[in-house]
Amino acid sequence: MTTNDCLFCKIVAREIPAKLAYEDEHTVAFHDVRPMAPTHVLVIPRRHIVGVADAKPEDALTLGQVLLAGRAVAEKTGLVESGYRLVLNNGVNAGQSVFHLHLHVLGGRVLAWPPG
Ligand code: AMP
Repeated sequence: MTTNDCLFCKIVAREIPAKLAYEDEHTVAFHDVRPMAPTHVLVIPRRHIVGVADAKPEDALTLGQVLLAGRAVAEKTGLVESGYRLVLNNGVNAGQSVFHLHLHVLGGRVLAWPPG
């Protein structure tokens, strides 16, 4: 897949609509279309990275920016006191369905552990 056919690159480019929750110079965050919790936001790097397994040492700063944006989303959506979960699915067994790295920010209810 090239960035031209990537759904999340199209969201970054505003070619596909999304309900934005947060954005900064490096990341965009938007509400998941199939929320699994009262708050379910996806944070993506503006730059196309397929997933954690494909990240290179030079992507380390971007990975950190995604995590910090996840924290900013949790603060903006009022999850800090109750707590929240940050999830990065990678590959088939984890259920990764979109191949542009994305951090799930989940909260607003008690989340089971271990996950299914
Ligand atoms: P994953 O299974 O970790 O790859 O997560 C992909 C997520 O993207 C799923 O939770 C989907 O519901 C979500 N998703 C797919 N298309 C869109 C979209 N156009 N806008 C927002 N979320 C989406």
